[in-house]
Amino acid sequence: MRPRIGVLGYAHETNALAAPISLQDGVRIDRQAGGLGANWVAGPAVDVLAESGAQVVELPLIELPPGGPLRHRDFVAYLSETEGALLEAGTLDALLVLGHGAGCTTKAADADGVYLELLRRTVGPDPSLTTVLDLHANVSEAMVRSVDAIVGYRTNPHVDVAERSREAAALALQTTQNVELEVAWCSLPLLLSQLGQLTTGAEPLGRVIDRSQTLVKGPVLNISVFGGFSLGDSPDAGLSVTVTAATSGEGRFPDSASAATEVADWAWQLRREYRSSATPLSDAVKRACHDKGPLLLADVADNPGGGAPGTSTALLGALLGAGASDVQLALQCDPRLVQDAFGSGLGAKITAVFNRGSTDPLAATLAAQATVTALRDGLYRPTTGVYAGATLRPGPTCTLDLGGVTVGVSSHPLQVSDPGLLTHVGLDPQAVRVLVVKSRGHFRAGFAHMFDESQIVEVDAPGLAPVDLSQLSPVKLRRPIYPIDVDLADLDPDLLTRFVRSARGGRRHR
Ligand SMILES: [Zn+2]
Repeated sequence: MRPRIGVLGYAHETNALAAPISLQDGVRIDRQAGGLGANWVAGPAVDVLAESGAQVVELPLIELPPGGPLRHRDFVAYLSETEGALLEAGTLDALLVLGHGAGCTTKAADADGVYLELLRRTVGPDPSLTTVLDLHANVSEAMVRSVDAIVGYRTNPHVDVAERSREAAALALQTTQNVELEVAWCSLPLLLSQLGQLTTGAEPLGRVIDRSQTLVKGPVLNISVFGGFSLGDSPDAGLSVTVTAATSGEGRFPDSASAATEVADWAWQLRREYRSSATPLSDAVKRACHDKGPLLLADVADNPGGGAPGTSTALLGALLGAGASDVQLALQCDPRLVQDAFGSGLGAKITAVFNRGSTDPLAATLAAQATVTALRDGLYRPTTGVYAGATLRPGPTCTLDLGGVTVGVSSHPLQVSDPGLLTHVGLDPQAVRVLVVKSRGHFRAGFAHMFDESQIVEVDAPGLAPVDLSQLSPVKLRRPIYPIDVDLADLDPDLLTRFVRSARGGRRHR
């Protein structure tokens, strides 16, 4: 009999500092032309399932943009629709859940846990449940207890999304062939800044992840290390490790739990090495004025990929104030300004007012004389970088030459992750001395061929995705947690276990 496998999901990275969003802000992948198979994340999984002869049952899958919490009534509506679709789908042998793992609603701090529990309740104990999560997932006990297998991204920038999607599909298929899986989970009181979670170069998290893969053998089928999403203000924020292992057969259980603890211990030993600061704004501007170039400034705290709106003018204002020249900056989000530029036309000289009427100090108004140098519209499909294969929606865009600094302006917040996006809006990243991108780290995959490490400056400017964890005012975060509660730093490992959380999922633990 062909196994029937349902594919569905809820993917949201919630920034507790950002304004709430609604379901309308998201994209329903299952309703897009071509369905799940045409999507850059779901497509690779669907291919693996279909090639094996399984019957793929397409169910609701929503991708919400990184941003504030989802309005709770919208979440409830989505849960109810998902439940209805599952009941209508009839008997399923397995579920493949494409998630993110850092979702909050205006009421629920662990929306992924609520979602996965609902799936488990609805389908009953038998169908296996395999979920794919982002490296920035805040994994919770409720999530772990609901599932049989967890597959997390192992790279940041996330260049292995399609690969992990295929891996999860293969695990889901194994469960339909009488292989039983379980998940062991170990969560540390360790909060990493967003910069502290890069895996490029010799970054500590990358070293932990690489080392963890040496333990993937025998019954241990997957080890995932999650940096967590520190801007989520969730009790589950922080570093955690999951180990998915096969349990068909005797005497295999201890492998997964001890592997999870061992990897978590490696991550804890490096606690003083994770980066938690960026270059001060004034130093970055000095380099932008004096370096020969090429130079890339990353406005990490206004990264739309981390839920910031892309509206901060702090870096733009500082560059203009310092008289910097031969600079291109993208993407400043300002739909009204784009409209103004379209109304005035190509070549028009206008007074560009960024964040007109704003009273938000993180989106300060900035006015400058500008020439409209490009007007563009349409979708953008990257062929390189982390979003290769995805469809991005910058909407109508313009470029404005402010004299010394040319700014790409979009109608929606969008992280710059590859040079093609800049070309799409009318900039020329190859020709400029200094490039400024609103991105925390995903730009590294797309721009690696243009800038080496010495030519990249991560700027500590104000924004909704700050690098410095002391700028957060967490309310729901678990305490104590390192490095906010510095006393934890010198805890000996035996005492530390008091603060470590763990759980197990899989059929034998239900
Ligand atoms: Zn991520």
